[in-house]
Amino acid sequence: MNEAELLFTQALGCDRAALYFNKRGSLNSRQAAFVSTALKRRIKGEPIQYILGKTEFMGLEFKVNKDVLIPRPETEILVETAIKIVRKFVALAKGGQTTALWPASSQVRKLRILDIGTGSGCIAISLAKFLPEASITATDISDKALETAKENAKFNNVEDKIVFLRSDLFESLAICDMRYAICVCNPPYIAAGEIDNLQPEIKYEPRIALDGGKDGLGFYRRIIKEAPDYLRDNGILIMEIGFGQAQAIGDIFRESGNFKILEIVKDYNNIDRVITAKRGRKE
Ligand code: GLN
Repeated sequence: MNEAELLFTQALGCDRAALYFNKRGSLNSRQAAFVSTALKRRIKGEPIQYILGKTEFMGLEFKVNKDVLIPRPETEILVETAIKIVRKFVALAKGGQTTALWPASSQVRKLRILDIGTGSGCIAISLAKFLPEASITATDISDKALETAKENAKFNNVEDKIVFLRSDLFESLAICDMRYAICVCNPPYIAAGEIDNLQPEIKYEPRIALDGGKDGLGFYRRIIKEAPDYLRDNGILIMEIGFGQAQAIGDIFRESGNFKILEIVKDYNNIDRVITAKRGRKE
């Protein structure tokens, strides 16, 4: 839906088709006031998703507010990539084949997935919804973001499939001694100095969800360095990447010596958007 459709379906409490096909009179005063307030906020630059308090991602509804990044369509590519990888392993395991990620002997066990920097919870919740075999841990450094993510998990009926944990990247996981088959992350990846040059809507989003340090790559360096301690042998790290960052992030992976890059997936604009890499075996 375009923004006008989003606004009016919410104001009228109807779906998109009803907007065009139902004969309607004028807005009542409550609906008119809602539209007027919403438009005033929108004109100032506030994103429509914050004004309406919700957005759609992977066909699911997510509550959003100023404490969380608004889920982006590009991030659906990360989710789809993770789903594809997991389904491949599940199919192999169900066919009786032992796979490095999910040995046939442990088929009864859930496949463990870790979502670092969950924000609204959009990635973790979509994975929980689409992958019944998954057991998910989702972390964020922000308590407020975690509150929203938990609400979203409940709203989408997957709260029993996700453990939410306050953590600066992997920090709080250090005591658990748990290894994950898959780690997904959409880290902040905008260079600090560039944030102010972006469209005004961005300024409404939490800066910690966007700011990737001086060159935008700070979180990739930390994640690639720390992730091996939390991934199983052959475990897979899947990260969203920013425009023009594929080469530099590929170099960070290669220099680490701990990963083999598997794939770089492009988005709908033909921009490299998701990188997947396999953790090598422990020596
Ligand atoms: N994981 C969340 C998302 O993809 C939040 C990411 C972030 O805040 N950088 O939308």
